[in-house]
Amino acid sequence: MEMKENFIKRIIEHKGKAVNFYCDEVLLPNGRNSTREYLDHPGASCVLPFLDENRIVLVKQYRYPIGKETFEIPAGKIDKGETPIECIKRELKEETGYSAGKIDKVLSFSPTPAFSNEILHIFAAFDLKQETKNPDEDEFLSNEIADFKTAIQMIYEGQIIDAKTIIALLYFNTAEKNISKNDQSRWRA
Ligand SMILES: [Mg+2]
Repeated sequence: MEMKENFIKRIIEHKGKAVNFYCDEVLLPNGRNSTREYLDHPGASCVLPFLDENRIVLVKQYRYPIGKETFEIPAGKIDKGETPIECIKRELKEETGYSAGKIDKVLSFSPTPAFSNEILHIFAAFDLKQETKNPDEDEFLSNEIADFKTAIQMIYEGQIIDAKTIIALLYFNTAEKNISKNDQSRWRA
């Protein structure tokens, strides 16, 4: 069964600095018209930075839309002309002050396909070196060095609620055995 919905026209509800909000009129497979409201997002990269086999770097920051401080892996929106890996190298340095000797792609996912076209690219960083951090002027965050197993526990206790952070941590919690068996060199300082 054909499920594709075809674009007819767009109303730009809001043009923002970081994201836009669109209302598109679409042609449905049954020949009728409908509207699709969604957030237009440039895409983002995030990274789980490993200090060693047991310790990771999280950032704590206040998230205005949910009115809470969160523990998250470092992340940021992709700038124009930037590749996902260039973005995450820049964001890791800006947000935490760390540069990485080795960065691996983990996976990409769509956090909210119902109302946003955002794609998030997850990376893992190894061989970290502390340099100076340089956050955006409206960004206040602190580095939180966490034990990996404690961070997994924090998911189950509801203390880590950020989606990209949960996905990255659970990915490595599942992949952990393979990684330590097949690629010990990842953990070299
Ligand atoms: Mg950020």
